[in-house]
Amino acid sequence: VVEEAGVNYEERIQVSVRLRPLNDKEIARNDVSDWECINDSTIIYRNSVSASERSLYPTAYSFDRVFRSDCDTRKVYEEAAKDVAISVVGGINSSIFAYGQTSSGKTYTMSGITECTVEDIFNYIEKHMDREFILKFSAIEIYNESVRDLLIPDCTPLRLLDDPERGTVIEKLTEENIRDWDHFIELISFCETQRQIGETSLNEASSRSHQILRLTVESSAREFLGNDKFSSLSASVNFVDLAGSERASQTNSAGARLKEGCHINRSLLTLGTVIRKLSKGRNGHIPFRDSKLTRILQSSLGGNARTAIICTMSPARSHVEQSRNTLLFASCAK
Ligand code: ADP
Ligand code: MG
Repeated sequence: VVEEAGVNYEERIQVSVRLRPLNDKEIARNDVSDWECINDSTIIYRNSVSASERSLYPTAYSFDRVFRSDCDTRKVYEEAAKDVAISVVGGINSSIFAYGQTSSGKTYTMSGITECTVEDIFNYIEKHMDREFILKFSAIEIYNESVRDLLIPDCTPLRLLDDPERGTVIEKLTEENIRDWDHFIELISFCETQRQIGETSLNEASSRSHQILRLTVESSAREFLGNDKFSSLSASVNFVDLAGSERASQTNSAGARLKEGCHINRSLLTLGTVIRKLSKGRNGHIPFRDSKLTRILQSSLGGNARTAIICTMSPARSHVEQSRNTLLFASCAK
């Protein structure tokens, strides 16, 4: 991978869409599945729509990959995330996003992809005894534009600092060296219990925060290789489980919840702008600094970095508006 990992700046963002099956709630209210993947790259809206609706919305959308609702996460990982994630062992920073409305399958997808990646990195390390590896783990949550360490049980917000060499760094962020698989599972389970869960009228377990799990792989050649650029490497892969993309207005929530909604939308909006600009080439001003999320991810989004976005969606007729918004976001990222 080290030799193969040369990235060119023009490389596009990989965009895919994953449909989940109808859930029990949707089935119970006789909701129907209206979306279908007609091949590996195209998803269509099956419900017959009026002519005026047809003129407003496309019925077919194409991406790098689309995944049917019966597809397992391993396959999604292999075909939509693996190349981007595993380039970390070759010294290339990367980010993988899950985008979609609450309960569309973001966390389900992202936690599976994170596990698959760690498994692959362990396998890679085992096969490359000529190098010495350190695998580090850190985890944060961004809630209301406030950054929190998910490995520390208290809630003190972390500050972002500008480092002349490393760019934006998170002050006092905990980094754990992952010892083995069990240790990794322990760490992610701990983060899960720390993650903020709030209740809204849309979904009891709605997630209104962004979560970033970060794996950093450092490696060095056991034998001195002369003036080789691969003698020592370090890079990070970020697994970003975004807050629900639904609008705050839809959740009937007032006061504090509305404020949260605004922040969420600001972060998602900025992310959308950044990704749209990156997908159109890297010229011009890219507003990384307009939100905490994009500031933190800047070195894993801009420049010599790789990005994959997996948009998750419910197939239910009742969610068509949200699903179209998700597909619009995905289309803009292509
Ligand atoms: P989100 O993080 O977007 O709010 P979740 O990942 O928590 O959504 O998914 C909501 C529920 O749907 C969970 O119970 C999850 O297990 C289930 N689910 C999501 N995606 C799938 C899928 N592709 N196949 C089966 N179950 C899924
Ligand atoms: Mg979630």
